[in-house]
Amino acid sequence: MSGYIQVVFNHPLRDEFTYRKPDAWDELPLPGSRILAPFSNRPRQIGFITSLSNTTDYDPARIKEPDDLLDESPVITGNLMELARWITDYYFCSMGETLFAAFPFGSRTSVRQEQVYICGPSYETVHKQPKLSPKRRQALELFAEPGTAMSAAEIKEKAGVGVAVIKALLHENALSLRARPNQPRISEAEKQYQTPPVDLNADQVQAVRTIGNSLGMGGYHQFLLHGVTGSGKTEVFLRSIDEALALGKSTLVLVPEIALTPQTAARYRGRFPGRVEVLHSGLSQSRRFEAWMRVRAGEVPIVVGTRSAVFAPLENLGLIIVDEEHDPSYKQSDPAPRYHARDVACYRGMIEKAVVVLGSATPSLESYENVLRKKSTLLHLPQRATAHALPQIELVDMRHRPPTERILSSRARDAIEETLSMGLQSILFLNRRGHSTQLQCRDCGKALECQHCSVTLVWHSRDRSLRCHHCGYVQGEPEACPYCRSAWIRARGFGTEQVLETIASFFPSARSERIDLDVTQEQGSHDRILSRFRKGEIDLLVGTQMVSKGLDMPGVRLVVVVQAETALNVADFRASERSFSLLTQVAGRAGRGEHPGLVLVQSYAPSHYSIFTALRHDYLAFRRIESRFRKQLGLPPHTRLLNLRVESEIAEKAEELAKEMMQLIQQPLKGIAPSICRVIGPTPCPLEKLLGRWRWQILLASRDGKIRQQILNSPELREKLLKPPSKTRLIIDVDPISVL
Ligand code: ADP
Ligand code: ZN
Ligand code: ZN
Repeated sequence: MSGYIQVVFNHPLRDEFTYRKPDAWDELPLPGSRILAPFSNRPRQIGFITSLSNTTDYDPARIKEPDDLLDESPVITGNLMELARWITDYYFCSMGETLFAAFPFGSRTSVRQEQVYICGPSYETVHKQPKLSPKRRQALELFAEPGTAMSAAEIKEKAGVGVAVIKALLHENALSLRARPNQPRISEAEKQYQTPPVDLNADQVQAVRTIGNSLGMGGYHQFLLHGVTGSGKTEVFLRSIDEALALGKSTLVLVPEIALTPQTAARYRGRFPGRVEVLHSGLSQSRRFEAWMRVRAGEVPIVVGTRSAVFAPLENLGLIIVDEEHDPSYKQSDPAPRYHARDVACYRGMIEKAVVVLGSATPSLESYENVLRKKSTLLHLPQRATAHALPQIELVDMRHRPPTERILSSRARDAIEETLSMGLQSILFLNRRGHSTQLQCRDCGKALECQHCSVTLVWHSRDRSLRCHHCGYVQGEPEACPYCRSAWIRARGFGTEQVLETIASFFPSARSERIDLDVTQEQGSHDRILSRFRKGEIDLLVGTQMVSKGLDMPGVRLVVVVQAETALNVADFRASERSFSLLTQVAGRAGRGEHPGLVLVQSYAPSHYSIFTALRHDYLAFRRIESRFRKQLGLPPHTRLLNLRVESEIAEKAEELAKEMMQLIQQPLKGIAPSICRVIGPTPCPLEKLLGRWRWQILLASRDGKIRQQILNSPELREKLLKPPSKTRLIIDVDPISVL
């Protein structure tokens, strides 16, 4: 039988390439399988089969054959293939880019040491065949005992047969292959996070019941579980999984950055021992591949993972949970596909007819808008699950204070002192690492900047270095100002290093430590610090947003937000939302145990709404104010954004191309009212230069996604987008999470 296969490669090119089925292949392989084939000027590239055909428009004489087929059965199956097509279309990338993001394991094929043979569906029939060769019979005899599982090496040794015999039996379905059940072990460090089921409170019961009913009815439904910090959202998720399991359905749980919140994954693994696979980027590639294969083989019904786990090959998916759905880490910024895992999860839910539950203490404006538009059903947990109330939050106005209180107010010092004397713990939160935010010349007033980015360098006292937090550029401490050669340079602003120095000098006998990206570079150090904190071996913990996420530490009485407006001083339209969310999250770490919590918010801008609403734990008020501003400005959730970014190492080229793109956009925009689709730009990005490239952007704010798509698909624009001029990059970011 002849046939052709269409293949895509990991390349921004949107085309499919046609190959001829080699005669040696008995059948056409299925879409979603990988092949090795000559492509471009490389002899062997991995590609994904997207479709099959019997005929082709190309000259058959010029069509090449692939060299090899990597998968016996597709690694990307039906539903995921459909999901990949949607992503490709929606995020304006290539199918190749999407498929390689969904299955990021290159040419890996099997987990050899993990594979075992078991009885196949035709075991009995083949075994009874009178003409069965003695070798095959011998091999089959080994499996007489039900439940036997053996590796190829074991079969070879015990039955004295070769690979060909085993292959033949596999082919006849007398034997099947299966990954060796390898129960992921629960580490000692994780055990402390295991929690037994608790009696649910009325709100939780209501939420679980509603989700359960929806699961029982089958079909897609979206819920937003809005619960204050510590309201027992995770408990609701765990019970909902129980419901899904009872219906024989599997569950996908997405969480932001597992490496930062080891206790989250541990709670799921602890509650469902041996039935959970964890997929995240902190695992080695081979560990992740093994886990992926086990999921693919249907050996676990629950996957807990970060962003890319949205592609986990679970079958019979009934429930999808997106925890902390507001978290920006769900959006992939580079490379393409620049997808938002929450939104992809919702679409996957529609395809799989699954129930999707988004959870957060501070829902994104988009998700809340969906509730208002009746696309999603609100489930509310207004109170903490334990007997303890939300912590009291107190504002500390930092204006007009003596220099000694530059970092820590006297109020905060007293509260720390008091907490120490109670034998309890404090968290000091500042979302800025390093010692000083910049070095500034006192003569010419210039601050030292990165050579590759338009940002100031941060001074780190540990190794006396100046570092760029965007590109990683490092340089030593300069002796003189690079602009005017003056030696009079001073440090300005402070980061976590300086906060730690300050508390160490105020409280020399307390055990204080710092947790941020700089100290957690080393594998496992993050877990170690948190584990010691949990055991009470640290009194004062200074940290960046690493301390804001998901920590449930009963010994924490006090949280000090060292400088509340750090997140506000960012030129991004989501700055207020992020700031509110961060404040709420970090405040939520206090008072989770027996003792009432206290949160002190030090601020120079106490009247900003994202600060005063956070002080009152008033999400709804924040949302109303923020939503009104966004409406006035024509920004999400009232519009859908698309960012068209131009980058070049040559400043003029970036500007030139941005203006040219603007011209091209004008064409398809003709006749569309600005209230339907508005263009903002072209303007230099707030981060005008990054990693040595100059950046410009054009923002499209449109009423709906379709118009956006329509504009992008105009022929001239498309042509340019696919073939940008040399030395430039064109980046399309659909629903950008940040426009810096
Ligand atoms: P969230 O995910 O909303 O922050 P968690 O599910 O982590 O909240 O719950 C916070 C704490 O409250 C956990 O220690 C959890 O074991 C406990 N908890 C949850 N539900 C209940 C309940 N119904 N009764 C008592 N404690 C509960
Ligand atoms: Zn100078
Ligand atoms: Zn830089």
